[in-house]
Amino acid sequence: MKAPVFEYAAPQSVEEALSLLGACQGESKIIAGGQSLMPLLNMRLARPDLLVDIGRIAGLDYIRDADGGLAIGAMTRQSDIERSALVAQRQPMLAAGTRFIAHPQIRNRGTIGGSISHADPAAVYPALAVALDMQIEVAGPAGHRSVDAADFFITYLTTALEPDEILVELRLPGFPPRAGWSFKEVSRRHGDFALAGVAATMEVDSSGVCSFARIVLFGVAAVPLRVEAAEQLLLGSKVEQSLFEEAGAMTSDTLDEPLSDIHASADYRRHLAGVLTRRALAEAAGRAA
Ligand SMILES: Cc1cc2nc3c(=O)[nH]c(=O)nc-3n(C[C@H](O)[C@H](O)[C@H](O)COP(=O)(O)OP(=O)(O)OC[C@H]3O[C@@H](n4cnc5c(N)ncnc54)[C@H](O)[C@@H]3O)c2cc1C
Repeated sequence: MKAPVFEYAAPQSVEEALSLLGACQGESKIIAGGQSLMPLLNMRLARPDLLVDIGRIAGLDYIRDADGGLAIGAMTRQSDIERSALVAQRQPMLAAGTRFIAHPQIRNRGTIGGSISHADPAAVYPALAVALDMQIEVAGPAGHRSVDAADFFITYLTTALEPDEILVELRLPGFPPRAGWSFKEVSRRHGDFALAGVAATMEVDSSGVCSFARIVLFGVAAVPLRVEAAEQLLLGSKVEQSLFEEAGAMTSDTLDEPLSDIHASADYRRHLAGVLTRRALAEAAGRAA
């Protein structure tokens, strides 16, 4: 199918883009890399009156040091994140996770801001946003605001963004030097969306006891899902295989109603979540200094 008829605007500044969005009163759509929006337009699942292309706005495409962490512009291409030496050094799990997104051609166009705004439940960046405590910087008619990733994802393809707002920047703390991480997913073929996945981080003290744990699942619920019960189990415990097995089993048990669709049943996703968590925790603990 072909996309429905729409007007097109390519503003040169965030202010100009905001005024276009405001004037259209919710009947407009931002287009960034177009990798998710174009299929929706072609299938006529989105029918905006106006497309606001933010790709020509200078200054939304950067990866910078920010107080030892990172500031990443919304229009930064996924392939630039994948290849950035600064990302690899400051947030290795972000670099590693990016390689699971689709294929190089899609990563060359797709942006980090587009993926996080789109909020696909099976996507990589929303899960990493929660796992890595990203701050999401938003520009709107009343100025800028900052939203914790934990509060950003509301349900399927729905975020805290208002129709007249633009995601402009992602801010991440630096990855703690003694921490370990692991990113794992299962998909039918490499590059497909995940049937289920996990992003895990862990800190282990000098006596081998877990002092911090974060487990975030994706592909199993409407939004990235923190498994706080399993995190609590790990805290203060000696890291060893039996603990990872218990945490994996607990993760499966906490999933009341995982997603179920033509790609995978709820039971299969529940099983995957437990297995992936067990393996990810073992890998994260191994990487922790
Ligand atoms: C074949 C295929 C396979 C894929 N596989 C995966 C995968 O395995 N894992 C994965 O994570 N992703 C996957 N993707 C999605 C891909 O990562 C997209 O690039 C991404 O989801 C959207 O980024 P984009 O820049 O293309 O956004 P667009 O398609 O331009 O926009 C997506 C949505 O976000 C909104 N938006 C975009 N930017 C902003 C902004 N700055 N502020 C506010 N709203 C904004 C748009 O209005 C639109 O609603 C796949 C895509 C394709 C086509």
